[in-house]
Order: sequence, then structure tokens, then C-alpha cells
Amino acid sequence: MIDLLSLAQQDMEALATANGFPKFRGKQLYEWCHKKEIFDYGAMTNLSRDFIAFLKANTVINRGELLTVTSSGKEDALKFLLRFDGALIETVLMRYHPKSGGERNTLCISTQAGCAMGCKFCATAKNGLSRNLTTGEIIDQVNFANAYLRQNNGESVSNVVYMGMGEPLANYDAVWKSIGILNDAKNIGMRRITVSTCGLVPAIDRLAEERSQLTLAVSLHSANDALRRQLMPIAKKYPLPQLMEALNRYMAMTKRRVTIEYALFDRVNDGEKDARELALLLKRQGFHVNLIPGNPVAETDLKTSSKQHIAAFAAVLKEHNIETSIRESRGQDVEGACGQLRAKYTNS
Ligand code: SAH
Repeated sequence: MIDLLSLAQQDMEALATANGFPKFRGKQLYEWCHKKEIFDYGAMTNLSRDFIAFLKANTVINRGELLTVTSSGKEDALKFLLRFDGALIETVLMRYHPKSGGERNTLCISTQAGCAMGCKFCATAKNGLSRNLTTGEIIDQVNFANAYLRQNNGESVSNVVYMGMGEPLANYDAVWKSIGILNDAKNIGMRRITVSTCGLVPAIDRLAEERSQLTLAVSLHSANDALRRQLMPIAKKYPLPQLMEALNRYMAMTKRRVTIEYALFDRVNDGEKDARELALLLKRQGFHVNLIPGNPVAETDLKTSSKQHIAAFAAVLKEHNIETSIRESRGQDVEGACGQLRAKYTNS
């Protein structure tokens, strides 16, 4: 059975024409599945009866199952626990309602069940990789958040960050296809999409070739290769010099500034020396640095940096004219903050 949620518009058009239906049926179907987010064949009122019969016999709309929604005290972060064909997935919705307007609903989506990268500070890494998610499963996370927002206050997801469970660039095809659908069906501009990677060099080069306007974020966490290798095993395969060269190629090809993510852990990578090393590595290359207070993860002795250490670290970068921001941490109380996603489900 073909899963419609994994199909782009041209795939649906090809499905229609290959089976003797007019091409425009594919476009209509795409609008139901991805724009209107209607998942019941019977409600797709402009489709012909014989096309619906064909769809029922040959396709499925493979929705995940929403197990729980956990909301943080202020409802500024909500964690959705979903199940897709046995795989437990978490998706986090962060709602920003600044008094000055400019409301945003940012959804942090997962691309794999588990993760193979083994970063020492990340909860998702603990049980390894179960499997890649399909395009449809990636998109369906947005469907659930949109349904929640629609019911709640008529809003929808405005920004998407590929920063949930898994390594997006290790599931490149499904991820890239999902980005296309977000962009042309769900009204999410490329500049409001961020893909975060631990630094898979060949895939970064491949993404550069797409010349898209999305934001690439790279999890660096140390400018020192020896320390980085300890924290992130992927650094053994792609050491810093190779990674930095790839990022420079990426910026040259796309003309887009790359974000460097740096999670600060107490006395591990948050000293002044670490900041100077980072400043030296990044100088004059137009990166944006996003400092993230490291979130505590069970079974590790990593602790978050103090406010003073974070401020001192940021000050060193600013001294070197490196554009720096400190990410406000959200969702900690629902275990939905960066690095805390490890889907667990108990029937209690
Ligand atoms: N695999 C991708 C995306 C998923 S992780 C990547 O590595 O970028 C999203 C971000 O959260 C990454 O920057 C990751 O390094 C960071 N992260 C993981 N564990 C964390 C923790 N305990 N505290 C703060 N950030 C963490």
C-alpha cells in the first residue's frame, strides 16, 4: 500500500496519471492530504467516485497515534508523544507570544526513532537507532501540532526546527522531501525551517547543492577536536578541519549564514579557554553562535553551566565580534528540552 502522506504533489499526479486518472486529481488529493489536512477519503468532496475507490484499494493515509500531550506549567512548551508503526516519537511545540506581536509557533520535529550518533550528553542516543522515519511520519508530526493549534486558538505551526530525535542528515531523502512539503503545502517559508546536524560532511555538501534558503545549524559543542571526539563520536569520522571546510563551502554555495550550536556543560566545555578556542575557530567567517545551557540528562554526570559561566563565555565571543545569542531553554519540565527526548510510555 502506498502511503499518501509520504508523497509530494508530483508523486500524486504521477500516481493519478499512471492509473488512468487525470493529472489534476493528483493535485486535488495533495491539497486534501497536505494543505487541508483532511485524512478521510470520504470527506474529499471534489474527488470522483472512481478515484476514491482506487485510493481506497491501493493507498493508505498512515497516521500516527497520539498517545499523550504533556504541557509545561505555562503552556509555552507542549510535548506530543506519538506512535508510528510501533516507534515512539516525541515532538515539541514551543509557543512564543511576545507582547509586541510577532507570534510564533515553533515545532521541533524528530526524523528518526532513536539515533545512531551516540553523543554523550543526549538522551536520544542512549538506546541507539531503531529506524528512520518516513516522509509521512515526519510530516504527520506537523499535522498533529496544527490540529492542536487549530482547536486551541486557530493558529498553525509557523516555524519548524529539525532538532528532535535523530540525525536529520542521516535520513536525508525523507527529510529533504518533507521540507518540500512543509514549504509548498503548509505555508512554512524556507527561512523559517532549520535543519540541525551533528556534522555529517558528505550530507552537508549534498544539502549545499540544493542551494536552499533554510538555516543549517551545526552542533559543535567544542572547538577542540580531542574534547569533541569525547563528546561526539561522529568527530572521529569527520574531524573539525573537515567539518569547517564543508561549512565554508556551504556558506559560499548558499550565501546563508550557518548557525553553530554550542551546549554548555559545567566545567566540561564552558571555560574561558574553550570560548577563546571557539572564537579562533570561527573568526571572520560570519557564523552565528547559539549558546544553549546544557540540559541535564539522566545517567550522565553532566551539569548545566552556571549563568555566570554562560555570560562570560558569550562575552569572549562578542569581544571577538562573533554574533552570539543565548537560547532560552524551554520544555525542561516536560523533559522536552534539547537532548532530553527519549520517548518512553508507561501505562500507569
Ligand atoms: N542530530 C541533530 C539534531 C538533534 S539534537 C544534531 O546533532 O544537531 C538538537 C540539538 O540539541 C543539538 O544541537 C544537540 O547537540 C543538542 N543537545 C543534545 N543534548 C543536549 C543537552 N543535554 N543539552 C543541550 N543540548 C543538547
